[in-house]
Amino acid sequence: MAAARRLLPRWAGAMRPVGAGAGPGPGQGLGRAQGNGTGTGDLEPGGGPGPGPGRGRAPAPLRSRRSRLCPQISAAAAGALPARVKVVEVGPRDGLQNEQSIVPTAVKIGLIDMLSHTGLPVIEATSFVSPRWVPQMADHTEVMQGINKLPGVSYPVLTPNLKGFQAAVAAGAKEVSIFGAASELFTKKNINCSIEESLERFSEVMSAARAASIPVRGYVSCVLGCPYEGKISAAKVAEVSKKMYSMGCYEISLGDTIGIGTPGSMREMLTAVMKEVPVGALAVHCHDTYGQALANILVALQMGVSVVDASVAGLGGCPYAKGASGNVATEDLVYMLNGLGIHTGVDLQKLMDAGTFICNALNRRTNSKVSQASCRL
Ligand SMILES: [Zn+2]
Repeated sequence: MAAARRLLPRWAGAMRPVGAGAGPGPGQGLGRAQGNGTGTGDLEPGGGPGPGPGRGRAPAPLRSRRSRLCPQISAAAAGALPARVKVVEVGPRDGLQNEQSIVPTAVKIGLIDMLSHTGLPVIEATSFVSPRWVPQMADHTEVMQGINKLPGVSYPVLTPNLKGFQAAVAAGAKEVSIFGAASELFTKKNINCSIEESLERFSEVMSAARAASIPVRGYVSCVLGCPYEGKISAAKVAEVSKKMYSMGCYEISLGDTIGIGTPGSMREMLTAVMKEVPVGALAVHCHDTYGQALANILVALQMGVSVVDASVAGLGGCPYAKGASGNVATEDLVYMLNGLGIHTGVDLQKLMDAGTFICNALNRRTNSKVSQASCRL
């Protein structure tokens, strides 16, 4: 397949991290950020107000609370890690579409508007799929038209077909995403075709997007495992990623949809994908089902990836594992990146406020460990 012209979003230049595209090769840097006191282990310092019996009744002083939220570490300590990371907020789409209840449109708009003021550069707003498939996103047009779009913030939407793309553009979308999978069985069960056929179906969206100068992001799901197929070969992920990149996607988001990956399988998969797609065009999208999301993200950062998807309050679940955690929480990701001295431009406190807002609206507990910890301080 001939490489198509790739449209970059307007903010791409501003957010492209130092070293992206020429990042460290696979195998480099692992361990450099470990064991150097970068602060991720100091949340409960010895003798501090821990949660144990008889302790922690008095709230921590404000200064101490602030310093816990924003540990300042020198850039040198970050070693081979990128200087900046672009955080892609997927909560309003990926998160809310996996919630049990259907969220009122006004709440979705309120959440996106709060997220817009946190400094996040990208907020995936909704999905232009048929309401028959995803009733949670049936109000996509109202959401796109109701949010207050801030300059400098991108609000991409998912568009699985031409009809969805046209509706998205009519509603004011300036960037879209398409969704592929690295598992044949997952694709067969979900949309009843092969991976190859599923990608061909996107060609109409790709050419319409090119004609309208709209950048397209590509998702590849099941990159570290599939609920039906089990293990997915790194070579298959590389092949699908290469195809989507060749079709003209400016960025490929590699999704561990069922959150089964480990730092080992993440490294193996990225090593294969980076031979086919420049690392500056890669993002990782980790679910925390097995509690590995932040560890997997750290490995990706050490390999030069500088775009990470996350969901405020860890919104969303896993449709294949009832009761399991969803996407990695944006609060926890930003806390880790702060601790590594990596710039995101995101205000953690405002992010936590947005998380509190949506959790109150959904009457659920936050999945962000940082928010849970901070509430008790
Ligand atoms: Zn996800």
